[in-house]
Amino acid sequence: MALIVQKYGGSSVADAESIKRVAKRIVDTRRAGHDVVVAVSAMGDTTDELLDLAHQVAPISAPRELDMLLSSGERISMALLAMAIHSMGFEARSFTGSQAGMITDATHGAARIVDVTPIRLREALDEGAIVIVAGFQGFNRDTRDITTLGRGGSDTTAVALAAALQADVCQIYSDVDGIFTADPRVVPKARKLDVVSSEEMLELAANGAKVLYIRAVEYARRHGVIINARSTFSSGQGTFVLAPGMTVPAAIAAIAEESAMEEPIVAGVATDLSQAKITVIGVPDVPGKAAEIFTVVAKSGANVDMIVQNVSAAATARTDISFTLPKSDAATALRALAAEQPGIGFESLVHDDQIGKLSVVGAGMRTHSGVSATLFEALSTAGVNIEMISTSEIRISVVVRGDDLAGAARIVHTAYGLDGDTDAVVHAGTGR
Ligand code: ASP
Ligand code: MG
Repeated sequence: MALIVQKYGGSSVADAESIKRVAKRIVDTRRAGHDVVVAVSAMGDTTDELLDLAHQVAPISAPRELDMLLSSGERISMALLAMAIHSMGFEARSFTGSQAGMITDATHGAARIVDVTPIRLREALDEGAIVIVAGFQGFNRDTRDITTLGRGGSDTTAVALAAALQADVCQIYSDVDGIFTADPRVVPKARKLDVVSSEEMLELAANGAKVLYIRAVEYARRHGVIINARSTFSSGQGTFVLAPGMTVPAAIAAIAEESAMEEPIVAGVATDLSQAKITVIGVPDVPGKAAEIFTVVAKSGANVDMIVQNVSAAATARTDISFTLPKSDAATALRALAAEQPGIGFESLVHDDQIGKLSVVGAGMRTHSGVSATLFEALSTAGVNIEMISTSEIRISVVVRGDDLAGAARIVHTAYGLDGDTDAVVHAGTGR
């Protein structure tokens, strides 16, 4: 018998029928002899709808009240799920984040978990109940207020519960079958991975893969939690995300030895259309200018990703600096830079939101040469122009025209030998 934490995303509990389907899955796990703790998201698009309501009532709302509002979404789904389980003849008890002992810092809207004290959950488990916890929320001891963990935070709730309760596995259920070598809606020949390393998963998540939230993967890696991403709508085993040295216990799943051992050079190709590019033109090529520019950008709250600086033109001793950032941060960053233009002394700003980012991720890059050559050759054959390049130890990313991104991803996927024999089955979902 194992202790299993399961997380169900909003699309898995979108309506009464779905809640009953999830209840059945939970009861089946219980019937198999396991203890079950469930973290649940708000039903369907509830969180977006609540945010929308807030905007209608007031253009800017107090962060404390926004968290009170948003945390109610998960309260609805947790209680309904417990009721559905009761009606199947099983004991279930729902708990809010604060009842469950999710202690966070005081940052409303993006709180970090600092401690988990699951006393009431342990009691309920000892009494034989299935435990349901509202995802995405916690409690701060100093302010004594409810906090939320940021969008997609229920993944983190689940992983934190798994760590605190020393669960055998944290199963994250969504509407996709697991982690794929690429987004199957972009690359139809994408294959589901049986196993992916947590460092590769972090790079994939940071570069556009949406199935798991990066904070949850980080938390799992730090606390030695095995994540298993799988679908609510099928019975496959999904994908196991493993940190170095971790193996999947036989009680949880039978993983073919070769897929557990396999270390492909490239694990996957991630695509991201959510970024924009800003180019600062005619920057005086003297020490300190990059510092001035990126201090202004950082103060605007923007999260810069890639940066490229050109060689300066000998005649003018000026250069161009381009960087990418989330589209949603671009307007604020542009305004902040424009305000400082006289001081910094650049000539102009160009904003481009038609870019796409393609990233190739694989731990095998450390020890294999020629990985980038394969990427550049594939893009060249496809006639795709590369605008920016950046690398980490296990990732190569390029910026291309947004319109070229899907085609480029398919060609690159083929070039690394990642194509499956058949097209991937895509459920209606978004991966949440
Ligand atoms: N309901 C929250 C959101 O939509 C948290 C979650 O789904 O994980 O972001
Ligand atoms: Mg949601």
